[in-house]
Amino acid sequence: MEDDKIKYLLFIPVNDGTLIFNILTRGLELVPCTINNIRELYDCGNEILNKLKEKMIILDESVDSDALLKYIYNTFRYRAEDKLIITDAWTYRCNFSCVYCLQQNIGVNNKELLPEERVELWSALKDIFRVKYLDVVLFGGEPFYDINYVEKLLNVATDNLPELRNIGAVTNGAFPSKNKTINLIKKYDFKYVQITLDGPEEIHNQRRIFKDSATGTWNVIQSNIRDLLENTDVNIVIHSVIDSQNWEVYGEMLDFMIKKYRKWIYSEYPRIIFNLGMESHPFGFSYHTKINIPRLKEYGKIYLHVLKEAAKRNITVIDFMGSIMCSLNKNNEVILGPDGAVYKCVSAIGLPFFRVADRKTILNSPEKFIINYSKYIEGLKPNPDCFSCKYFPVCGGGCYYNAYIENKKYDCWYPIHDIMLPDMVKILYKAEEVNFNIYKLHGWIE
Ligand code: SF4
Ligand code: SF4
Repeated sequence: MEDDKIKYLLFIPVNDGTLIFNILTRGLELVPCTINNIRELYDCGNEILNKLKEKMIILDESVDSDALLKYIYNTFRYRAEDKLIITDAWTYRCNFSCVYCLQQNIGVNNKELLPEERVELWSALKDIFRVKYLDVVLFGGEPFYDINYVEKLLNVATDNLPELRNIGAVTNGAFPSKNKTINLIKKYDFKYVQITLDGPEEIHNQRRIFKDSATGTWNVIQSNIRDLLENTDVNIVIHSVIDSQNWEVYGEMLDFMIKKYRKWIYSEYPRIIFNLGMESHPFGFSYHTKINIPRLKEYGKIYLHVLKEAAKRNITVIDFMGSIMCSLNKNNEVILGPDGAVYKCVSAIGLPFFRVADRKTILNSPEKFIINYSKYIEGLKPNPDCFSCKYFPVCGGGCYYNAYIENKKYDCWYPIHDIMLPDMVKILYKAEEVNFNIYKLHGWIE
């Protein structure tokens, strides 16, 4: 049976002793002896015990770990940042037809707003949340699908909304109007663009396909990545959706990228960083996701393999440890759909269950907006078992979107965390956190 007081401690055997990891505080230290439980730890001597405390590894059994958990949970939920992050899916339209697209079953004819109407919404949200700054991430569909629209949108925004600070985009990377898009990214000083590459050319091209010609998109994206690197200062996040079809060849893709973009991947401040994503079913499922999303334990092994491929090559990645929080219960993140409705999950744009409020409510009834919003931030309750689960700090209680789509009461990832966490900690031990939740990997401790 798990000892309640030490449930957040992991003891991971390695060649030089034992890694001690506190899942709640993320404190991590290597001790030069074999430790299987907290009693053996106390035999290690005061010097080591003090070192563990310095690393925020809590050993005091009288600590109220429930209060600590709530404190850490709420710190992430209500981060003391004077900004609101708006992920703005201004359109569902897209030049791709990806096999797992989450929007494939939602319908593409959703009403779109005028640029002025969108900026009016951004401003209203700024007032409702009483923040000083706005960060906007352009999303879709494909956010650069109609570059004239985006140009107008950013023009109106910069003229009328001095609070707009950082701009980013999640794009498929095959810009329908290449030169205009690159100029716009430069002109508005985009901080980053996220582009998906799903494996080496052959695999990527089977999954991310041009809608009109049904041909692969790899070459166009590669040419655009090169042009972005050479003609702008924007950082590029290479996102990959990992599943049964591509996990074994992820390393091949990395080798290709490293050969082609070495100086931007390994510079002191890398312009190219990587993100490893897992796949979810779209509403109503898709043939691809049905056959390629593995069972949980298998998915854990696959994800670990891919993470190790990244660690072997010492690249920089976005948080790989899992989080206590997702956008659904984070206070300062909202998602806008094409018609101006607010959602709390990017995967769920268009699904009524995840719609917090429509445009009229945001503009005319801010009090009603706040009442609805609070139901998502404070009202959605995970499985009651989650708060006593040792993996809660890296899980946050499972995914509401997955539970909804798969018609389950809860979406529990316990078997995945069980398989992945010890090896992830071995990678974390060697990694360097170069920015909040961004890690330069350096292999792992054996
Ligand atoms: S690029 Fe994105 S929005 Fe477009 S089809 Fe692919 S997954 Fe869907
Ligand atoms: S969803 Fe499962 S693994 Fe995650 S915190 Fe809850 S009980 Fe733990």
